[in-house]
Amino acid sequence: MSERKNLLLMPGDGIGPEVMAQAKRVLDWLQKTGRADFAITEELVGGASIDAHGVPLTEAALAHALAADAVLFGSVGGPKWDTVPFDIRPEAALLKLRKEMGVFANLRPAKVFDALVDASSLKPELVRGLDIMIVRELIGGIYFGEPRGIETLPDGSKRGVNTEVYTTGEIERVGRVAFELARKRQNRVCSVEKANVMESGLLWRQVMTALHAAEYPDVQLSHMYADNCAMQLAKNPRQFDVIVTGNLFGDILSDLAAMLTGSLGLLPSATLGAVEPSGRRAGFYEPIHGSAPDIAGKGLANPLAQILSLALMLRYSFGQGANAALIEQAVENVLAKAGRTPDIAMPGRAKISTSEMGDALLAELEA
Ligand code: ATP
Ligand code: MG
Repeated sequence: MSERKNLLLMPGDGIGPEVMAQAKRVLDWLQKTGRADFAITEELVGGASIDAHGVPLTEAALAHALAADAVLFGSVGGPKWDTVPFDIRPEAALLKLRKEMGVFANLRPAKVFDALVDASSLKPELVRGLDIMIVRELIGGIYFGEPRGIETLPDGSKRGVNTEVYTTGEIERVGRVAFELARKRQNRVCSVEKANVMESGLLWRQVMTALHAAEYPDVQLSHMYADNCAMQLAKNPRQFDVIVTGNLFGDILSDLAAMLTGSLGLLPSATLGAVEPSGRRAGFYEPIHGSAPDIAGKGLANPLAQILSLALMLRYSFGQGANAALIEQAVENVLAKAGRTPDIAMPGRAKISTSEMGDALLAELEA
């Protein structure tokens, strides 16, 4: 192995530290068996950082995240900090980290594990064989475009404004991520916008079409309006391979796709920056779920989304696809035979705790 890579862990709040503890066991195992060699450090973030330092993200923690080769993040927030002013809420740390790290391509795989789909499944929304990758543009679009704000009109009433802005460069860079991913999957990209009613959507379509012709003619590209995409995801979700879309539509469509997979506790995400001239690329990895205050501290959380986020990190930040596949296969095996955390419980299978799920996974890895 070449130079030692730096990995920063930010467990955060609520169930964050509980599921991170299980991910750490997997990391330890990788290190112990010589499969990986990381310099690992940890920082407080969110409410935990507010309690210790008065702010959700210290300058030191931010600097540390910017210097790391990858960040594995848990989740932030909880009722304890809900009354804190908006700009220093736990959630502000997450937005700041993403923005400062320049991670613009949010990858949300929506994959259904075969073991979850069985005769006794209590979840009819599960779609066997589903394997979609949604690529959502994360730091542009209507959530950030100017002008924005609430203004008071002469008659005393108010006007709330948001603006969707996308530039050629912003569309190209996220488009490239989608095309590159497709080449390693089923080679199909569906680009989603509302080109029929939005100028930013029209530009999105034009740029994707040109990028496809210039650099990725080998990949199959289709275009879909966002409303139709929502309908198609509900009706025939297996038609999709990679979906690439803007910030707002990505937010909505990825939650819809997540619900087709059964549990929040199983869904990881990766958010990537641009490949820099040095070859370096920022990578930020976190489960889809939040800090789940309702179950925090009870040993009920499913740690698999955090562990699968770790697998994505190995694949996308460190080129360790084999280690990632090893972990993903172990998850599949555990789901097929071990007990289950309450979120994916089924009749005839023991209910197990967060750490017991960790035990089962470690046993599977060691087998
Ligand atoms: P955020 O705003 O931070 O995304 P949220 O309010 O959307 O948070 P979550 O914290 O993700 O919600 O929790 C939503 C529901 O899913 C809760 O009932 C929670 O207990 C459950 N949940 C979330 N993560 C897990 C997990 N890893 N294992 C089991 N249940 C979970
Ligand atoms: Mg949420």
